[in-house]
Amino acid sequence: MTTVVTPVLPTADALRTRVRDALAAVGATVPLGAPGSEGLPASTPITGDVLFSVPQASAADADAAVAAAAEAFSTWRTTPAPVRGALVARLGQLLVEHKTALATLVTIEAGKINSEALGEVQEMIDICEFAVGLSRQLYGRTIASERPGHRLMENWHPLGVVGVITAFNFPVAVWAWNTAIALVCGDTVVWKPSELTPLTAVACQALLERACADVGAPAAVGRLVLGEREVGEKLVDDPRVALVSATGSVRMGREVGPRVAARFGRALLELGGNNAAIVTPAADLDLAVRGIVFSAAGTAGQRCTTLRRLIVHSSVADELVSRIVAAYKQLPVGDPFADRTLVGPLIHTASYRDMVLALQQATAEGGTVLGGERVDVGDEGAFYVTPAVVRMPAQSAVVHKETFAPILYVMTYETLDEAIALNNAVPQGLSSSIFTLDMREAERFLAADGSDCGIANVNIGTSGAEIGGAFGGEKETGGGRESGSDSWKAYMRRATNTVNYSTELPLAQGVHFG
Ligand code: NAD
Repeated sequence: MTTVVTPVLPTADALRTRVRDALAAVGATVPLGAPGSEGLPASTPITGDVLFSVPQASAADADAAVAAAAEAFSTWRTTPAPVRGALVARLGQLLVEHKTALATLVTIEAGKINSEALGEVQEMIDICEFAVGLSRQLYGRTIASERPGHRLMENWHPLGVVGVITAFNFPVAVWAWNTAIALVCGDTVVWKPSELTPLTAVACQALLERACADVGAPAAVGRLVLGEREVGEKLVDDPRVALVSATGSVRMGREVGPRVAARFGRALLELGGNNAAIVTPAADLDLAVRGIVFSAAGTAGQRCTTLRRLIVHSSVADELVSRIVAAYKQLPVGDPFADRTLVGPLIHTASYRDMVLALQQATAEGGTVLGGERVDVGDEGAFYVTPAVVRMPAQSAVVHKETFAPILYVMTYETLDEAIALNNAVPQGLSSSIFTLDMREAERFLAADGSDCGIANVNIGTSGAEIGGAFGGEKETGGGRESGSDSWKAYMRRATNTVNYSTELPLAQGVHFG
């Protein structure tokens, strides 16, 4: 499968200059050591080079960050919520001002095309707006009491320190989802970003610290600790961290969930997906092709919501696959800063290896692979690939696992029941969609015996969620919900209050005592 490739990559030195300029623009002052010097390597998948070394947190640093956030919580929790909202409003303004600089860092560290990086920063701005509105709500209920002269109600209070652990592929938006909501809820935050994206984290932290200074909020409401998973484990095991909000692989969630539970902490898990779209004979195929190509090949297949499985009615499968393959041939692969590029690099060599192994397994299980080749960009350490389409038999093992690369498995079905069963047959439960103009098919997919995922869409792809809805998934995806709707409740504790304003002391359930 031939693919249009965008020309020449930027040099590592040119990227270093862009990093310095972006950090200076946001006012971040982090010591940038030479590659190979002590510290955490800050690299780029664009060329595969290490650009700098940045200081990483020791166990003592992580401990001090949690202590400072716990101290700040003691005053932040009683700061009126709309005043807390003013901090998030200021953060949102700073994000608007520095959108380009932050998106540049996202493209350099995560490799996503610049338009998607700008979209990710816009998502941060959107969640700040949402959180500011929320800061004047955070409402409880008043509930009918069975006792005369009594009022029964619930109040929502701040929870404590929130440990936020994030993945490489959404290096800034997921921090913002958690931080904007946690801050208006009266919590304080300690953030352990992906070890692959420390520079974007330093930039976000600089903007938060500036927002704190501008509105007079304590700087320790948000702390940053850079490092590998060991630094994350410090947050996981620290009893002062009331909520651990962890985004990443199922493997990570399997370790984090039980450890937080063992100390009776709260965990909010946002883990891997293995998302499917059903295309029925009643689909608008033009619309379906556009939705499928964006969801499957966008971000080089490195979104948690990436479309990985296509479940197509046998009567339209050949036509749909040939149209997807034709569209894939037109997808420019290459430098994520180049205007025309639609598919940037894989994050690192291990991702490329996983993709090769998955395609080998698919072939061994009877699949037919189109695409999925490495694109020569003249740089051995960078991994650019053409997106793959793989015709698969319905029953195969490889389609049950999430391979974080642009591989779209295509299976056929005969009845809608069979298609829904295939959609639900994997251990993960994040996103799903159906393409159909038949209202009965669409409603069946959304019904209780339809898709078992946290996100179920009609006539759009599996990726690209808006911040207004609650985001997250079921089964091995971890069950957490972040972002919009009432996800804020995960960041607060609920108190049920009963007030007796009568002169009697009636007991509930008609109990007489004495
Ligand atoms: P990863 O699991 O390798 O790492 C994620 C984060 O967890 C990193 O900060 C890492 O240092 C930390 N970590 C790893 N093990 C840990 C441990 N034992 N204790 C504490 N922290 C630990 O994931 P990744 O490769 O960065 O990201 C890709 C994965 O993330 C994919 O599976 C993708 O589907 C998933 N993801 C899910 C969502 C979602 O909202 N559901 C969003 C983005 C990414």
